[in-house]
Amino acid sequence: MKDSIEALIELQSIDDEIRGFLLTREELAVNQKRLAEILGRMNDELDDKRSKLDEAQRFYNERQGDLQHDGERLTKAKSKMAGVTRTKEYAAMQREMDNLRKKYSEDETELKRLNGAIDEYKTAIAGQEEKLAELQAEVRKEEATSGDRLAELNREIDAIESRKTSVHGRLDDGLLRRYARVLARRDGKAVVGATGGKCLGCSMKLPPQLFILVQRAETLQSCPNCQRFLYFKPAEEA
Ligand SMILES: [Zn+2]
Repeated sequence: MKDSIEALIELQSIDDEIRGFLLTREELAVNQKRLAEILGRMNDELDDKRSKLDEAQRFYNERQGDLQHDGERLTKAKSKMAGVTRTKEYAAMQREMDNLRKKYSEDETELKRLNGAIDEYKTAIAGQEEKLAELQAEVRKEEATSGDRLAELNREIDAIESRKTSVHGRLDDGLLRRYARVLARRDGKAVVGATGGKCLGCSMKLPPQLFILVQRAETLQSCPNCQRFLYFKPAEEA
């Protein structure tokens, strides 16, 4: 029975180690996922801005076409005016020309403003693209590091699993099943020390007779409250 107790203690410490490795592995995965999400969001934002820029550029080109058209109308009107001799007609044409000139200059000013805004937007996008590229490089570096760490973790987990198999060989099936049941039900702790008459798993005071049996370590005992396997742990170690 002494060997069973020792094997159970070892099994528990192996399971503690495995749990630590699995936790680290999960943290790595969560971290990678988070970074990928950030990058994805930044990319979406950029795509959105690029399509807005395209739209603005299209609008600008259209207006630019209109402006050119107005300029041609203005030139035509000018040459037509040269051939007009009647005062009344001349005055009407003069008015039309004035209107055309005014519209032309207003549109030209607006287009310049629009062009300035487009340039600013382009600069902003370029800045963001640069930032994204930097972040991408950082993420790739981090991915490589976590990839190494992950491979190392998997090797460590494999090694410890084989140690676990050899410990399993020292315990009978019924005991292993009981261990697994308690482990699952009691937060990954199936084997705990008993010190000063108390179960260190749930802190309950053990019946004195039971504590004596645990101290003797001739039989396998478990806590009546939390069902964890008990082993004697001298007070100075606690
Ligand atoms: Zn207990």
